[in-house]
Amino acid sequence: MTSYQDLGLTPIINASGAVTRLGGAPMPPEVLDAFRDGAQAWVPLEQLQAAAGRRIAELTGTDAGLVTAGSAAALTLGTAAILCGYDLGRIERLPHCEGFPHEFIIAREQRSGYDHAVRAAGARFVEVGFNEIVSNAGVRRTEAWEFEAAFTENTAGVFYGFGRDSQPPLAEVIERAHRHGLPVLVDAAGELPPKRNLSEIAALGADLVAFSGGKAIRGPQSTGILCGRKDLVASAALQMLDMDDHLQLWNPPADLVDSSKLDGLPRHGIGRPLKVSKEEVLALMTALELFASGGYDADWDRQHTLLASIATQLADQPVTCTIEGTREAERSPLLSIEIDEAGVGRSAFDICRGLRDGSPAVYVSHGRLAAATLTINPLCLDDTQAPELARRIREELAG
Ligand SMILES: *Cc1c(COP(=O)(O)O)cnc(C)c1O
Repeated sequence: MTSYQDLGLTPIINASGAVTRLGGAPMPPEVLDAFRDGAQAWVPLEQLQAAAGRRIAELTGTDAGLVTAGSAAALTLGTAAILCGYDLGRIERLPHCEGFPHEFIIAREQRSGYDHAVRAAGARFVEVGFNEIVSNAGVRRTEAWEFEAAFTENTAGVFYGFGRDSQPPLAEVIERAHRHGLPVLVDAAGELPPKRNLSEIAALGADLVAFSGGKAIRGPQSTGILCGRKDLVASAALQMLDMDDHLQLWNPPADLVDSSKLDGLPRHGIGRPLKVSKEEVLALMTALELFASGGYDADWDRQHTLLASIATQLADQPVTCTIEGTREAERSPLLSIEIDEAGVGRSAFDICRGLRDGSPAVYVSHGRLAAATLTINPLCLDDTQAPELARRIREELAG
């Protein structure tokens, strides 16, 4: 077996939670067992995806689901599905979309680096709204009418990034889009928890919703979920699955792909580089069951106790420690450590870098450094790491 040490790497202390650049969420033993068991038998992938999809549909209250190679992959597949449906010619041509509608309307304030996932399929974004609050030029955010005003014969669909504070409300955007028969693709990658978002976002009428499997669900880092309309999920499956078969032999479950709508068998589609392995499907489904049934809820107390112990060990330091979050919020509690930068003589930014460069390397959340605050997310911390983390912070505060 090859270890990280064999490769010359020393594992870090991850105090940032389930972030991708550090390797994501901790997988529970049941999930690892599913991965191992899954590797020891073989099943046709379209049957496995259909079965997983049935369960995803139940848990999300949608018509169909698919396990994808992450939420970003789900966005690429969802875009490809909206662009092509069952059209074999379009499936063959992606990402080239000359001759058919391929514009996605997006609020300017919702653009992000994840845009690539949508554009990779061949779609072009058309921005609406302004960012007037950020540009200090006004008080209004994007409004639903602006989407509708932008629809043309080139519009293929609407992209929406869901968040607690996203504007305009998703329901209003969906209503405007559906008036024109246009589908809405929703990025909800990091919107779990709360558990209710599994079904509530789709219940607003979203045509496709993408979730990460490797964040709060605690599945493999390289997994995600696409769920929603059956015809669109079918198209996504067609464009992701390995298609090296004969039309006369290929027999996908009818609730995954309606073969009667195919008058030929597409070759590998644009989603083929985003393949998901059988082990990953089983592991993700195991994790999803745990997440949906509240299997992680009890972990909140353990995480809170860890944070309280770190705060105690920093009590005599020139910092102000605050534990944020409630069990009801279903999210990990967070410890914010506000640094008296003048008293310490170092900035929070310098301390964050010192923690990364030290031994063991410690990665804290860096979202509030400008407010002189380090944030500790306890999701990936264990009992032995909490004292080490506190010791390293004390060392850095001492200079
Ligand atoms: C994490 C994230 C993604 C990407 O999800 P992966 O599962 O890592 O592919 C996309 N959009 C948003 C808003 C995210 O937070």
